[in-house]
Amino acid sequence: MSVPLPAAAVSTATPMKLVSCHACHLLSAQALEGLRCPRCGTVLHRRKPDSVARSWAFLIAAVILYIPANLLPMMTTQSVFGTSNDTVLSGIVYFWISDSMALALLVLIASVVVPLLKMMALTMLLLSVQFRSTWRIRQQTRLYRLLEVIGRWSMLDIFVVAMLAALVRAGKLATIIPGPGALAFASVVVLTMLASLSFDSRLLWDSLDENNG
Ligand SMILES: [Zn+2]
Repeated sequence: MSVPLPAAAVSTATPMKLVSCHACHLLSAQALEGLRCPRCGTVLHRRKPDSVARSWAFLIAAVILYIPANLLPMMTTQSVFGTSNDTVLSGIVYFWISDSMALALLVLIASVVVPLLKMMALTMLLLSVQFRSTWRIRQQTRLYRLLEVIGRWSMLDIFVVAMLAALVRAGKLATIIPGPGALAFASVVVLTMLASLSFDSRLLWDSLDENNG
């Protein structure tokens, strides 16, 4: 766990009149804000520009698309027995009743639970910054780090569809075509990823610094 440090041993860039590069973390004088980082060429900003507004925009778009992602068919299966359209939920039910409970759980977690939790967590973080709340900032920062880790696994569901398509095509028994739901789902994943990338977790601590004077 964290060791309490004497106040003199820690500081942030702002009171030291410094600005940290988003890409290479080089510290430059605050006077260079808006100019390019002398080391890597990224434009220097004290905080990600329009972080809260951009995150909200991406998040709201993701929430809206989450509805068609779950309601529209994720994939269309054409076989000698006819054509069937499967949504995420009907897919989960199908796996469950055909004794592939592990696969059903995997799809449920990857495509319903994780995106929902991600969007809820981002909403909480954004509301915290918006209302300058100082409630459990450390836990909220951890939550943001967790979001970044989960982000890398979010495309799992698209992989499941791709894998199934490849498997079934190999059997030449049926054709699987990704449906409009897959597009909406991929958009939800990309938009939540962009929302969490646009979010600047340091804004959480700015509220604390402001409250402390
Ligand atoms: Zn740099």
